[in-house]
Amino acid sequence: MLAVERGILTYSQVTAGMDYDDMLDRGMEETPDINAESTRFEVSDPEVRQEGHATVFENFQTICSDLGREPDHLLKFLQDELGTSAHIDESQRARFTGEFDTRRMQEAIDTYTDLYVICSECGLPDTEIEREQGAEVLHCTACGARSPTSN
Ligand SMILES: [Zn+2]
Repeated sequence: MLAVERGILTYSQVTAGMDYDDMLDRGMEETPDINAESTRFEVSDPEVRQEGHATVFENFQTICSDLGREPDHLLKFLQDELGTSAHIDESQRARFTGEFDTRRMQEAIDTYTDLYVICSECGLPDTEIEREQGAEVLHCTACGARSPTSN
């Protein structure tokens, strides 16, 4: 009411302000780590199912975009990591020869993320893959580090 006495704010402005604070307080209580949450690196869980002796990776494209990497690059890595052949089908899913469960696929993606997405210097995912003299280099746009990938 101090503001009203000073004549700076009208009653409705004060009310609106209070509602807003109220809303803000409630929001903060429900999600106390809202800031940390929005900046955290989130990669979807792989949706994997068996189809005969093949494994269909349903949300392959989603994971590529979560990682910010080319589908071909991830697919090539997964083939090496799982020791099998794979291709992208007409629905843009990845199909692997052989049976691999969700857990195995998750492990392979975690390995890929460590090698090709997360900066080894600062731990942030703000990186891009560059080529220098034919070798792959992980360039971090957050801290500027350049580190060779395993290939
Ligand atoms: Zn970095």
